[in-house]
Amino acid sequence: MLKGIAASQGIAVAKVYKLEPPVLEIVRKDAVAEEELGKLDAAFTKTVSDIEKIKEVASKSLAAEELAVFDAHLMMANDPELRSQIEDMIKNENVNAEFATEQVANMMISIFESMEDAYMRERAADIKDVTFRLKCNICGKEIPNLSTIDSPVIVVAKDLTPSDTGSLNKEYAKGFATEIGGRTSHSAIMARSLEIPAVVGVSGILEAANEGDEVILDALNGEVILNPTAEQVEEYTAKAEAFRKEKEALKELKDQKSISVDGREVLLVGNIGSPADVDGVLSNGGEGVGLFRTEFLYMKSEDDFPSEDVQYEAYKAVLEGMGGKPVVIRTLDIGGDKKLKYYEFDEELNPFLGVRAVRFCLMRKDIFRTQLRALLRASSYGKLCIMFPMIATLGEFREAKQVYNEEREKLINEGVKVADDIEVGCMIEIPAAAVLADNLAKEADFFSIGTNDLIQYSMAADRMSQPVSYLYQPMNPSVLRLIKMTIDGAHKHGKWCGMCGEMAGDEIAAPVLLGLGLDEFSMSATSILRARQIINGLKYEEMKKLAEQCLEKDTQEEVIELVNQVL
Ligand code: PEP
Ligand code: MG
Repeated sequence: MLKGIAASQGIAVAKVYKLEPPVLEIVRKDAVAEEELGKLDAAFTKTVSDIEKIKEVASKSLAAEELAVFDAHLMMANDPELRSQIEDMIKNENVNAEFATEQVANMMISIFESMEDAYMRERAADIKDVTFRLKCNICGKEIPNLSTIDSPVIVVAKDLTPSDTGSLNKEYAKGFATEIGGRTSHSAIMARSLEIPAVVGVSGILEAANEGDEVILDALNGEVILNPTAEQVEEYTAKAEAFRKEKEALKELKDQKSISVDGREVLLVGNIGSPADVDGVLSNGGEGVGLFRTEFLYMKSEDDFPSEDVQYEAYKAVLEGMGGKPVVIRTLDIGGDKKLKYYEFDEELNPFLGVRAVRFCLMRKDIFRTQLRALLRASSYGKLCIMFPMIATLGEFREAKQVYNEEREKLINEGVKVADDIEVGCMIEIPAAAVLADNLAKEADFFSIGTNDLIQYSMAADRMSQPVSYLYQPMNPSVLRLIKMTIDGAHKHGKWCGMCGEMAGDEIAAPVLLGLGLDEFSMSATSILRARQIINGLKYEEMKKLAEQCLEKDTQEEVIELVNQVL
């Protein structure tokens, strides 16, 4: 049995699917042309059908504009010119199909790469993609594309990129286990929004697991059992069923309020990464969206920052989809571990302490303005709250707000309809901002505490680092005090305070956060009903006392022990 971190709850039993990019060693070989032409033909057919499958799966989560890349790939895979050049080389030189393909591909890639026109130059990348797939298909090597999986599997990988997780087909991908990552790594967050079980940070899994092995993924306890016994399979299949039933029972709370026994009402809302996640929030009883991580829109985009119109459509879809319930949209949070295919960030020794989030936006106001305009244009379709990530100083907040106000003025002058109830707030995820919260609250309409970063910056412990993951201590009194300062700062000026870091969905933290006066809890959609069950069973006045006691403890262990005792 291998241990890891349970990142998205659930249990699954299926076969291992190893996600490892194939290594091709292509050498020139003498070959019989007829046989090679047969291989090539079969490989072309498979390549076209692979791309069609990818497109079909992607069409469920991507917009039409983003799907265009698959059409370009299909056109290439069906291009008679490409095909006839490879066939000619096989016939004329009696060489193996993969070698001929590589030669023709390299030639075409270098022609396109040297073209004047930027659009044509970018096509070189598409030729690379399509011909790599073709070569793999000739050599009988499977390219790990998660969207082409068509039988139940558990994906085992070093890590999953956001686009890997985006192309997971939930019908067949029953869960995943990764070698690296923590509870707040982006693959973990995506797993929770996709509602599939995931165990991350399972060191040794890639070496231990073989393609096709049977595996039990226990993402309640963070365990992976390879090649289980028949008894274990039976036991865990029953556990999985019990977990499913428990989830069903929680559905009864879907349309209820989130309110303590003695009448303290809070909002339980969802974190999302794309408009497609709205349904999950609503079906899990979410009372709004507390964090729309807009960076996924930027990360999905292939060759440039997403246009104002593409963004407008996405924001409008979320606002409309939520039907007037509050939607908090965070402006671009890029940098740190989040990169873009089409933009080269300057090398930095500590990217998490460098040009990230609002810092990047204030340096690239052109990009920031485009996003703000898209948000403002979409604002009349629902109840919009905008927040800036990684605010460290009041000066940054003022500067961001000023850009927002300028774009707002411009749009109004252009005659565009802009809502007049937009709230503009800031994320509190840097200790400096938490300490100065009462000053910030004079100018911000609301706060949302990003504990994933607040904890990493308070503890000076990289959230991606496995060895220092013991310092991820949401219940440490130091972190609780920063949270208290933030909530009190907001309330002093009549503003509301939410939380959208992973801590907001933590069952042990919920009573303490309620007691500290948190107004809004934003979490993975799948955690909402359980959180409602907990909060609706608590007494606010008692939790206030509990929170006060927690603040006075020395260690996280003592806090957790106290919470467990009181509950
Ligand atoms: C956070 O830091 O808590 C947060 C919600 O933002 P992200 O995880 O996207 O950095
Ligand atoms: Mg953050």
